[in-house]
Amino acid sequence: MKYKAHSATGFAVGSILAYYGDASFVEGTLLVGSAGLGSLLPDIDHRGSWIGRRLKVVSKIVGFRTSHRGATHAPLVTILFAAFMYGLVALWSPAVALYGAVGLLGGMWSHIALDALTKGGVPLLFPLTKKKFRIASFRTGGAIEKWIEAIATLLFIGYGSLAFFQAVQSYF
Ligand SMILES: [Zn+2]
Repeated sequence: MKYKAHSATGFAVGSILAYYGDASFVEGTLLVGSAGLGSLLPDIDHRGSWIGRRLKVVSKIVGFRTSHRGATHAPLVTILFAAFMYGLVALWSPAVALYGAVGLLGGMWSHIALDALTKGGVPLLFPLTKKKFRIASFRTGGAIEKWIEAIATLLFIGYGSLAFFQAVQSYF
C-alpha cells in the first residue's frame, strides 16, 4: 500500500490507543505522532517509498540488506526495534519511551496488517521462514486502498477528537 493509506491508518491507530488508553494531551500526542511515524517505517526498505526518499541513506543501507517487504515487515523485527527505541529513550524519560514505543508498534503493525491485504503479502514468521503471508489480494493503489484511506481518515478524525476532548476534560 502507499504512504497515504499507511499514514492515515497509523494516525487512526494512534488516536484509538490515545482514546481507550485515557491518555493525557501530551501522551496522546506522543501516541499519534509515533504511530504515524511507525506506519511509514517498514517501507524504509524500499528506496522509492515516501520514507525511503526522505531518509535516502538509511534506506540504501536497509534496502541493501533485505528485499522489499523483507525483515522490516516482520512482527518480530518491529518488536525488537520498538524495544530498542524504548531502551534508548527510557534513559532520558521512561514515560515518553513507553508511549513512543507503544505508538511505534501500533503504527508498524498497522502497516504490516495493511500490506497483508495485498498480493505481495508479508513475512509474518521471519526469521523462521521468508514465506510471505496474506489475508487478501487487493491491488496496491486500487479502489480498496482508497476506501481504507478514507475510513482510516474518518476514524482518525473521530477518535482524535474524542481523545482530545477527553484529555481536555481531565483538566477540569
Ligand atoms: Zn510496506
